[in-house]
Amino acid sequence: MSTSVPAGDSMPAVFFGHGSPMNTLEQNRYTEAWQTFGASAPRPRAILAISAHWYIGATAVTAMEHPRTIHDFYGFPQELFDVRYDAPGSPELAAEVAEVVKPTWVGQDHDSWGLDHGTWSVLKHAFPEADVPVVQLSIDATKPVDYHLDLGAKLAPLRDSGVLVVASGNIVHHLGMIDWGQPDAGFDWARSFNEDALEILSGDDPSRIGALESHAAYGRAVPTPDHFLPVVYLAGLAASAGVGTRTLVDGYAYGSLSMTSLTLGS
Ligand code: ZN
Repeated sequence: MSTSVPAGDSMPAVFFGHGSPMNTLEQNRYTEAWQTFGASAPRPRAILAISAHWYIGATAVTAMEHPRTIHDFYGFPQELFDVRYDAPGSPELAAEVAEVVKPTWVGQDHDSWGLDHGTWSVLKHAFPEADVPVVQLSIDATKPVDYHLDLGAKLAPLRDSGVLVVASGNIVHHLGMIDWGQPDAGFDWARSFNEDALEILSGDDPSRIGALESHAAYGRAVPTPDHFLPVVYLAGLAASAGVGTRTLVDGYAYGSLSMTSLTLGS
């Protein structure tokens, strides 16, 4: 049973390592951890979701009343294409995001995007009723890590007004190096990168996350920044709060994916 947020308390924030879209339909220790998080969190008035899969040339928010469910993948069973996540949108939260991060500019998207599987593959488990309004924030592919760290920190006031920030990606994500023969294992370099990331994120200065760009395994762990950058937003929120993150669930898949999920303030 969820409770409401007491005055003066802030909402938790979370980074989900979402992995394969098939997790939407499966029950495993990762999806169980996502479900437990959603069930134990105070009920948010809205969710701001930062998904690896809305990786474009600008910072924007979905501002429509009824965001559509986007199936942004191919080669999966029809059952996955039949999934819908019909949470309402929140034009009010979209406007608040634009206000709270000023002078950074945030576009208001009324008709191009919606909720992609980075968002709904995890929210299907964490908030299965789809009755909390959801706004997505895009990741600007043209900006450096520091931009995303700063933007994450600027979102901090939303936590004090009942908004749950949900970032969804994978700290280590290299599809080209996947080894299907190792469903529950991580390569040595993947473990090294993930563990060093966790040391920074859980420590007293999560704003050091950018140091990972010079990690020996960075090029293999982060061949493109889309799945890594969502955790940078959580690092920004953590730095703003002056506390480290906590591990919700940890593990590896197919050698080159880490499935770590992290929480802040829960
Ligand atoms: Zn993904």
